[in-house]
Amino acid sequence: MVTTVLVVEDEREIRELLRRYLERAGYGVLTTGSGAEAVRLLGEPGIALAVLDLGLPDVDGDEVLREARERGRVPVVVLTARTTVEDRIHGLRLGADDYVTKPFSPTEVVLRVGAVLHRAGGAPTGAARTVSYGGGRLRVDEARHEATLDGTLLELTPTEWGLLTALASVPGRVYSRYELVNRVRGYEFAGYERTVDSHVKNLRRKLGPDGAGVVVTVLGVGYRLGWSRDP
Ligand code: CA
Repeated sequence: MVTTVLVVEDEREIRELLRRYLERAGYGVLTTGSGAEAVRLLGEPGIALAVLDLGLPDVDGDEVLREARERGRVPVVVLTARTTVEDRIHGLRLGADDYVTKPFSPTEVVLRVGAVLHRAGGAPTGAARTVSYGGGRLRVDEARHEATLDGTLLELTPTEWGLLTALASVPGRVYSRYELVNRVRGYEFAGYERTVDSHVKNLRRKLGPDGAGVVVTVLGVGYRLGWSRDP
């Protein structure tokens, strides 16, 4: 499965720039502009590393960093406009694994993410291996771009593949249609909600009788993977 990086940055342009560069490097990317949402996401499994802007509008970045440290060992690369040596030391003391000062080159951020993951024992780029769900019934092989259900290869379109791997990156987490279209296409467009629904319908049909149990509708919110990841 792809290595998922959480980008926490309230400036949309920077957030999307980092998403593009990280995705191009083979990572799965979740983004949020909210510190509170970041704290919630860091409590869930499946996030390999967080890129965290310290200047957030709701919760202070320092606070998010502290929470990340308390909730377990998710490595954090901090982005900040604060440039003094004291600020740098402050961030590192709080537990940041690396530090990038704004304005930065997105390539540098990608390289630092790779280096920190490597040090943390993860893979420098999206590690490709098969991950299974639902007691081995659903298998997703990111490297081969293949998914099987009960041993049978699923013939998925690129959009269906994107939806499935997005949902499978954090099983149980609810993804809004907006998030899904963003992850699959990288942008939103008019009428995207109905488009997502029709792709989900096709994906479920291919998943057979269990389709609605694998891709679960969460009324008024979106979709989630109904099967948990196997240990
Ligand atoms: Ca900011």
